[in-house]
Order: sequence, then C-alpha cells, then structure tokens
Amino acid sequence: MNATIRPARRLESYVCGQWTPGAKEGQPLLDASTGELVAHIDSSGLNFAEVLEFGRSVASPKLRAMSFHERAAMLKALGLKLMEQKEEFYTESLRTGATRSDGWVDIEGGIGTMLTFASKGRRELPNTRVLVDGDVEPLSKDNSFSAQHILTPLQGVAVHINAFNFPVWGMLEKIAPTLLAGVPCVVKPASQTAYLTELVVRRIIETGILPEGALQLICGSVGDLLDHVTGQDAVTFTGSAWTGQKLKQHPAIIQNSVRFTMEADSLNSSILGPDAVPGTPEFDLFVKEVAREMTAKAGQKCTAIRRVIAPRALTEALVAAIGERLAKTAVGLPGDEGTRMGPLASMDQRDEVRQRIRDLQADAEIVAGDPDAVNVASGDAEKGAFLNPVLLYCDKPFAATAVHDVEAFGPVSTVMPYDSLDEAVELSRKGKGSLVSSLFTDDPKVAEEVVLGIAPYHGRVLIGNRASAKTSTGHGSPLAGLVHGGPGRAGGGEEMGGMRGVKHYMQRTAVQGTPRLLSAVTGRWIEGADATQGEHPFRKSLAELKIGDQLVTAKRTITLEDVEHFAHFTGDTFYAHMDSEAAKANPFFDDRVAHGYLIASFAAGLFVEPNPGPVLANFGVDHLRFLTPVYFGDTLQVRLTCKEINPRATAEHGEVRWDCQVTNQDGAVVAQYDVLTMVAKSWPPAA
Ligand code: NDP
Repeated sequence: MNATIRPARRLESYVCGQWTPGAKEGQPLLDASTGELVAHIDSSGLNFAEVLEFGRSVASPKLRAMSFHERAAMLKALGLKLMEQKEEFYTESLRTGATRSDGWVDIEGGIGTMLTFASKGRRELPNTRVLVDGDVEPLSKDNSFSAQHILTPLQGVAVHINAFNFPVWGMLEKIAPTLLAGVPCVVKPASQTAYLTELVVRRIIETGILPEGALQLICGSVGDLLDHVTGQDAVTFTGSAWTGQKLKQHPAIIQNSVRFTMEADSLNSSILGPDAVPGTPEFDLFVKEVAREMTAKAGQKCTAIRRVIAPRALTEALVAAIGERLAKTAVGLPGDEGTRMGPLASMDQRDEVRQRIRDLQADAEIVAGDPDAVNVASGDAEKGAFLNPVLLYCDKPFAATAVHDVEAFGPVSTVMPYDSLDEAVELSRKGKGSLVSSLFTDDPKVAEEVVLGIAPYHGRVLIGNRASAKTSTGHGSPLAGLVHGGPGRAGGGEEMGGMRGVKHYMQRTAVQGTPRLLSAVTGRWIEGADATQGEHPFRKSLAELKIGDQLVTAKRTITLEDVEHFAHFTGDTFYAHMDSEAAKANPFFDDRVAHGYLIASFAAGLFVEPNPGPVLANFGVDHLRFLTPVYFGDTLQVRLTCKEINPRATAEHGEVRWDCQVTNQDGAVVAQYDVLTMVAKSWPPAA
C-alpha cells in the first residue's frame, strides 16, 4: 500500500524571496498509480523579468563574494540536511510512480551528487573566487608581459528546465555545479512531478543555508521568462528534442548568445560482444542489465537501453533470456514490497508510449509483453498508468528507420542482430548521437574496436565484464564525476563531469599583462611577479605568510660520491648514473648524471627549516620536471616561492603551494616543480 500521503495542495513558486501561488487554480496533477488528485499547478501572474533580476541583483553578488571552498561547504551542509529528511521525499516520490529503488536513484542519488560536488570542490578547487585555467603563457623574453587564462562566474542566473522523470536528481545535479561556480539558479521542474521538487525546495529554503535568491522555483509555465535572458545567463533543458529545439531557437537566446545546454531524446544502445555466448558471465550480465534498464523507473530514464545489439547467432537465446526475466517483473503499486516496477508517470505518458510502440512495429515485431493487456500484481490497472515491459525484435536493422529514431519513453527495447563488429558499431551510430552506450565483452580486441568506433557518438561508454560485475555502477547511472550528455540527437550538451560541469557556468578570459599585475588578479604568484626575501617562509604561519614570500638557498655541489651513495642506498643503479661509457652512448647525456630524485632530495635538504614550526607536512609535488642533466661537480641552488595559499574553512591549517626552481652554476633550470605542504593557521597553535 502507498504510505501516508499529504492532502492535495496548490503548488507555489518560490520567487523574489517569497512563496507565491499562481493567479489561477491551474492544472491538476494526478497520482501515477491511483489517479487521485495530488496537487494543482499554475504560475500565472508571476513577473518573470523580476525573477531573473532578483537572482542577478540579490543572490549573484553574495555568491560571488564567497570562495569555492565556502560554496562547497554550503553545498555539503545542505546535502546533509536534505539527507536527514529523505523519508519524507520517498513518501511523496511514490505518487510519481517510483518504487523505493527508483526513488533511491532520484532522491539519494541527487543528494549524493550534491555532496560529491561539495567534496570535489573542496579538494579540486582552490579557496579563491577566481580559477586559473592552464599554465602562464610567457609572451616576452624578459618576463615583463605574460598571459593567464582565468575563469570567473557568470553574473546572471542559470535557468534549469527539467524533465518529469527525475524531479529531485534532475534539480540537484544541476544546481550543485551552478552554485559551486557562484551562479544563482531558477529551477523549472516538469509539471507532472513538480510536487516532489516543490517539497524538496521548501525543505532547502527552510534550512536558511543558501543566500536569498540563490535558488528560485517556478511551478508551472515559465511564461515570457526566456524573453528576458541575457548573455550573462545560462539555460539548460532536459526533455523532448521537439521542445528543446524550439527553446534553443528562442530569439533572446540566439540574439544574446545565451549558453544553452540541451539533453534530449537518446536512443541508447547496448552491444553484446561476439565472445559473450550463452554460458559466459558476460551473457548473463548483459541479460540482467537490459532487463534492469527496461524496468528501472519503468524505463523512463534518459539513459535507458532502447536498442539491444547482439550477434545474429545469439539473438534467439537472448530474446528468450530477457523475455524470461521480464515475465517475472511484478508490476504494481510502487509502495508494495513485491512490486518490481511501478506505473509510468501519467496516463498521457502511457498513451504516448503505446503510440511509440506502434511506430516501432513498422520495423519490429513484439517478442515479449503486450502493450494493451495490462497485468498488475497490485493496484487498479484502469486507474494507474501501468504498462508491462515490451521487448521487440527487428530482423533487418539496416533497412529500418523507426527503431533508430523513435524513443518510446517507457519499459520498451528492441533487439537487433549484427553479422560483424563493424555492423555492431554502425548500428550503434545509427542512434545519431546518444548519452550512453555499453558493451559486454571480455575480449580486449572487441573492447578496443567497438569503443573507438562508437566513442565520438556518445558522452559515456561502459564496458561490462566478469571482473567488474560486482563493482560496476551500471549502464544507466550518470555519475557526478563523469560527463553526462551526448552529441547530435542527444542534444549536444554536457553536464556534470566533475569540475568540468562547474566551468560551464563560468567565463574563460585570457588576461594579458605584466606578471606582478596578473598575480594580483589571480591571487597566485607567477614567474616575474614581485617576491619578498626575508625570514624563512617555513617559519611563517598562514596568518603571516604572503604570496611571493621567497627563499633563495645556499648552494650544494654534486659529487661522484653523492651519486654512488644514493645509487647503492636506494638500489637505483640505472646505467646513466653508474656507467660512463653507457651514459655517453645515450643521446641525452655527455657522461654519468645525477639521479633526478637525488636532485629533488638535495633541494629539500637545501630549503627545509628543520625545527618544529608551522609547516606540518609535505603531501606531494606537482608537475615535477627534470630539465637539464646534472653532472659531477655541478653546483645547485634552490629558489622556493610561496605560490598559492588555501586555508581550510573547517580546520586549523591550510594548503600552501610553493614554486620550486633548482638551477645550476650557469643559471640553467635543472628541475622545476610545485611543492605541496600543510601549514598551520597560527603558530604556536591555538590552545
Ligand atoms: P517536454 O519537452 O515536453 O518538457 C520538458 C520540460 O520543458 C518540462 O519542464 C516542460 O514543462 C518544459 N517545457 C515544455 N514546453 C516549454 C516551453 N514552451 N517553454 C519552456 N519550457 C517548456 O518533455 P516531457 O517532460 O513531457 O517528456 C516528453 C518526452 O521527452 C518523453 O516522452 C521522452 O521521450 C522525452 N524525454 C527525454 C528525456 C531525456 O533526458 N532524454 C528526459 C525526459 C523526457 P511542463 O512539464 O510544465 O510542460
């Protein structure tokens, strides 16, 4: 039975700092399983230009004043609060037709995505308000003129227009990178399941964690909102290709070159490798994955497997195995324990899927399931949008069009045969660009040929086999750290992908100037910028340390004994260090050379301050390069410069990046790298 449910209500939009009902009662939204009224939705009467302006003028300056780490901490606090309230969301989610496991993907998957962005932001971004992108480009020989690409947050708002199938994840996976970038959001959920999004937004606003205006919600139509978008705003869309293309051509979007990200219909494929014959683990995994993708969320997933591509000789066994699994899928009320698949989101959606199945039948025959005779384990087949899974078979997929064009957004897939790997690749590409494809094989050659053949047509490719059977995250799961989006028909967009997703809401700018001024802009020391020599910088806590604090060390001459000792002590007796004749025969060296790691070790010996002090630990080096060979008798010196300081918001220390340059007696750079240390905020530490 469905759990305790809330009475029918009138949804409100959260705009300009207030919960605001529409002027009219609006459209009724019905429970997917019972047809009962859940809510009314309407946004008429809202002033959409004011909504955008509120985000730009009230929230944007506040978000931009925060550092990446402060915004990451905000997302973490929010994610943890939402997780505490998840049971309320699960109960509401049942009304969308989602079972507990469907709800897990949407609710905990969405909150988990937000927490992952929080954690990645904290670990992968500096504690600054500007991001440097790539290395400094020196533009003059004397270091008086250089360039640095930087990324700064857009100063407008991001409008996120979402699909009905993931009312929680769809919102959170988009607002997390947007807020981390420092840009406010306006979320417009699809009407059909907007009551769940509205509930989550109410809980978000109640926490008081977000600055006012950082998240606004429109329940109902967005009216003339798109007429008011500017080049500092961004619009993302998830839904049908038809609507997406219409919005992409909106005059304001074209005239103002508004960033528009679209994720639309996707005829995702999954390929069974020729080696994955019945009896192999890959065959069984494939059958399981296809059946799971067809039935999870009743097939209403943008990543679901729509086309099943298999060796011709295996299709009969495959159809039988998938059909057997599907027949065991109990369809019924999503809150019932025995239910494996709930209804579609609405009766309209079911009608739509039935129509699309009829379109597919132009090319394919139904081999499992009956779209018209509904068989439910619980619930009322007449009142709920129930549909049993339907498997089709298309024998001549190269002569077919519908199976590669029609997205039946429900528990529907089509099996199609291939006669060679080239054909398998070609069939996958016939989707004209998809979000994801998967391949089940244990053969490295098959993996190479297929993945390289289909990668340009996909945003993500998963290889399934016996070794990853237990750990694989599966074909249908977009992950916060991985790109979600696909070329061509899938919309041409890209979301998430870790910090790539954050950068979608930032502007990349090449800044040219003298290093001292570039360094002031980025808060990062660069070659040619001012440096201050004085007290050893390792004696300074974060309270005293400044970008540009520099140490130039004493000198040390490398001897034959040093190299012999290091070689035998470490076991690194590589010939270039030990054998003069062999070293001379090497095109890079004139004689025996010192080990690179010996140079790095001597450099540490030259620059450290040995006494207990604010430098707590060395946690690594970045970008280590050995640039000039070091011969016996060469004299080395180190220049260490404080390059970047990242205090941690929640700890008594922070990270300091030091530019480390080792030169020889001629001034040639022998080694160049960044040294990474943990440094106390104050020293001696606060009691
Ligand atoms: P739609 O394209 O109709 O709607 C998607 C979103 O756009 C909704 O929020 C909708 O709001 C909004 N919208 C619709 N018209 C406008 C407009 N003129 N201006 C601004 N916003 C608008 O898709 P559906 O959600 O109804 O799904 C229809 C089909 O789309 C599915 O059957 C499926 O084939 C495909 N789909 C694909 C997905 C994917 O990621 N690949 C995900 C979901 C759906 P409202 O609901 O208020 O109309």
